[in-house]
Amino acid sequence: MTATLPGAYLGNHLAAQLRAASVGREGDVFVIRHPGCEVVSFGEFFSNAEKLAAALVEVGVCPGDRVAVQVEKSVAMLELYVATLLAGAVFLPLNPGYTTSEVSYFLGDATPKLLVCDPSKIEALGEVARAAQVADIWSLSGDETGSLIAARDAQNMGFEARAHGADDLAATLYTSGTTGRSKGAMLSHGALASNSQTLKQYWRFSAHDVLIHALPIFHTHGLFVATNITLMAGGRAIFMPRFDAAAICSVMPEATAMMGVPTFYTRLLNQPSLAHASRNMRLFISGSAPLLSETHERWREVTGHAILERYGMTETNMNTSNPYDGARRAGTVGLSLPGVEVIVTDPETGERLGENEIGMLEVRGPNLFAGYWQMPEKTAQELRASGFFITGDLGIIDGDGYVSIVGRQNDMIISGGLNIYPKELELLLDGLPGVLETAVIGVPHPDFGEAVVAVLVPRAGEEIDLDDVRAGIETAVAKFKRPKHYAILTELPRNTMGKVQKKSLREEFLNLFG
Ligand code: AMP
Repeated sequence: MTATLPGAYLGNHLAAQLRAASVGREGDVFVIRHPGCEVVSFGEFFSNAEKLAAALVEVGVCPGDRVAVQVEKSVAMLELYVATLLAGAVFLPLNPGYTTSEVSYFLGDATPKLLVCDPSKIEALGEVARAAQVADIWSLSGDETGSLIAARDAQNMGFEARAHGADDLAATLYTSGTTGRSKGAMLSHGALASNSQTLKQYWRFSAHDVLIHALPIFHTHGLFVATNITLMAGGRAIFMPRFDAAAICSVMPEATAMMGVPTFYTRLLNQPSLAHASRNMRLFISGSAPLLSETHERWREVTGHAILERYGMTETNMNTSNPYDGARRAGTVGLSLPGVEVIVTDPETGERLGENEIGMLEVRGPNLFAGYWQMPEKTAQELRASGFFITGDLGIIDGDGYVSIVGRQNDMIISGGLNIYPKELELLLDGLPGVLETAVIGVPHPDFGEAVVAVLVPRAGEEIDLDDVRAGIETAVAKFKRPKHYAILTELPRNTMGKVQKKSLREEFLNLFG
């Protein structure tokens, strides 16, 4: 297969696999919808990527350099992802909602060679990029100076591959820890390629598929699962800038598959056209957060389809999936994927537990990350010498091999499919006027899955002004992290060891939104 590849891909482990299915094929890979309709053919997509790779090399990007990217969702960003692979560099996508101070942490930690951002942010981010010694800052739009697109258009075709093997790094994605410090998960060409190939086969993706792509592309789900599979299958994606339930129903009759977070499904169920629109679909996939059994059942009643739920994470790519042909069991994340081992261990001793026993989920396989960027101790704590990764998720495996996640060992909140780490917000809130201490928890929310609630305790004799608190949070963190409710208590519940009992707070605020 690789013999027919253009030179730009030869010897480049992941890029070659993304290109192989469409060599010599006409046709469109991305159909960009809402507003308007624009198409990007395979030829255009990959030639843009090759020329962008040449532009990256021209501006001094060397193999192993990080290329940090904070732009709104666009096909150009995906072209830059492939270009970064071709140049032998490491793609580092950042949520476009991150504030300047959040981006400054990632730049300082990852020390990328380049930062690519939206033109409106060049000035604000320029300062933090200089402070982090980032060599260059570029935009990805228009034909202004400082645009990588202009640099791309000045290149000739015929970029020669920077050979990159399975163990070389392809991307670094930041994930947070409970300590509040984000960790860069280093992902190799081999880990990304093998997982996407496995999923492509497991979920039967082919050149006939048209995937509704409404996920963000700074995260594993939309960037690797959805995009890599589409390219590897030589299929097509209807590329939507963001989730919009009505817009999705309007394009569904042209599509065959959708990948979404549970919020997509609960919102789509409110669309009167859903039953009709979904008639030609073959597959609905859900992941990144728990899908309620009730949503699974309602979806089946309305569309006739059983949503296929799968489980993965930034560090591991995908680990388990409900079967394509067999029973898709609501409330479970299915069976371990081919080549991936999933076991349950005692969280205290690490000893392996048996069927139907709750414990820590650990995974091993070619899908795993290579460790946390410049955090050898953290890596050693979570990645055992035996090759098993300690996921931090508590779960159970039944006699048929179906895995269910029962909760997270730490208190991470998942709202709308995005992770929020309480510690980060607690540290910010603790620093605001009149605040003695805080606890941030997640409670069930009918739309977002979970919503952030901040519980604040005032300093003795002082009052907390919640308008000031809201304003302080708004300037500091992206919208998806901001609390949806603030409560003031005279003290936090604590156990005899002095630990805050978040469980009892969650119980207290359980029905706040539903
Ligand atoms: P991330 O690294 O952002 O992909 O988040 C990974 C975490 O999301 C996992 O460790 C799980 O806690 C959670 N997660 C992913 N998929 C599922 C799922 N299908 N059901 C429950 N939790 C999930």
